[in-house]
Amino acid sequence: GQSVAIFTSGGDSCGMNGALRASVRMAIYLGSQPYMIREGYQGMVEGGEHFVKAKWSSVSSIIHLGGTIIGSARCAEFMQREGRKKAAFNLVQRDINRLVVIGGDGSLTGANIFRQEWSGLLDELLAEGKITTQQREKYVDLHVVGVVGSIDNDFCGTDLTIGANTALHRITEAIDSIASTAYSHKRIFILEVMGRRCGFLAMITGIISEADYVFCPEAPPPMDWHDRLCEKLQKEGEGGQRLHIIIVAEGASDLNGEPITVEIVKKVILDKLKRESRITVLGHVQRGGATSAYDRILACRMGAEAVVAVLEATGNTTPVVVVLTNNQIERIPLMGAVERTQAANEALKSGDWAKAIALRGVF
Ligand code: ATP
Repeated sequence: GQSVAIFTSGGDSCGMNGALRASVRMAIYLGSQPYMIREGYQGMVEGGEHFVKAKWSSVSSIIHLGGTIIGSARCAEFMQREGRKKAAFNLVQRDINRLVVIGGDGSLTGANIFRQEWSGLLDELLAEGKITTQQREKYVDLHVVGVVGSIDNDFCGTDLTIGANTALHRITEAIDSIASTAYSHKRIFILEVMGRRCGFLAMITGIISEADYVFCPEAPPPMDWHDRLCEKLQKEGEGGQRLHIIIVAEGASDLNGEPITVEIVKKVILDKLKRESRITVLGHVQRGGATSAYDRILACRMGAEAVVAVLEATGNTTPVVVVLTNNQIERIPLMGAVERTQAANEALKSGDWAKAIALRGVF
């Protein structure tokens, strides 16, 4: 059978292990030899023991674990052609020309560049006597399929990325704990959640926690937000509301692009309302812990489909990313989705919020 390599790259998220598990097992079920590459592209470039032949039992008891058991790394060498040539050599040596990459848009972009260069890289390796003519011919194409792991849900083309649902559970648990104290003491809590380029986590948690105010990258508040926020808190306090929660996404800003941080919000409330507030920055608490049931099943569905897709691929196949659309697992062209994601990020940066929302779709 064919060999297929599976690796995780970029920031980790809950469910990456579930996707790895499903990919490995589907590959074995279909009669292929799966490899796991440790430490993402770094392991692919370095070779050696970073390539692990996977057995059915290699991925037992990992579906619930956060992070990724095979490691993830940023790899500067893979950004250079020389690094990618080393990676190509390491793959061909092991009869691998099919890759499942579980990562973010950067990792998927890297995979696509690698795929485009692949035959040229093999030509060079052949000329240098590092691979044989037979290898050159047998592995003439590189087949790539992407699966998106990201807690931010910041990838265009899928309803949900692997890890976002678990992050929502973590944030909800934290808010519920904070809320009891806030309620008892009539306090104002300001909570920072992740999402540099996407307000998904902030918006959802804002709604489900009955937050008073939400700051997120796609929807900068009117310039008089200081007054509006304080008036709202004041009015609600007078109306008997004891609990105040304000959610701030990492990437929030005002209409001029000036960052709105938890510290700034705290200062506004102190200066204008003369009221103390408490800041909670959830940070990496949102990333880890036990994987939610939803992320486990999403990871299973996506990981399995990715391997089926990569084993079906021929020289004429457009590389795809596996996505969730209306609760169906689908394949869509990888580069179209990556380009849309990058265009949405650019739109956010340049202050074209409507465009960013249009590209990303409704949550
Ligand atoms: P996250 O959403 O967590 O940021 P990501 O996959 O976007 O995940 P990146 O740090 O952008 O994370 O990319 C991970 C790795 O992918 C990089 O360290 C690099 O090795 C590879 N990579 C990213 N972009 C490219 C590129 N343009 N060319 C080659 N390799 C790339």
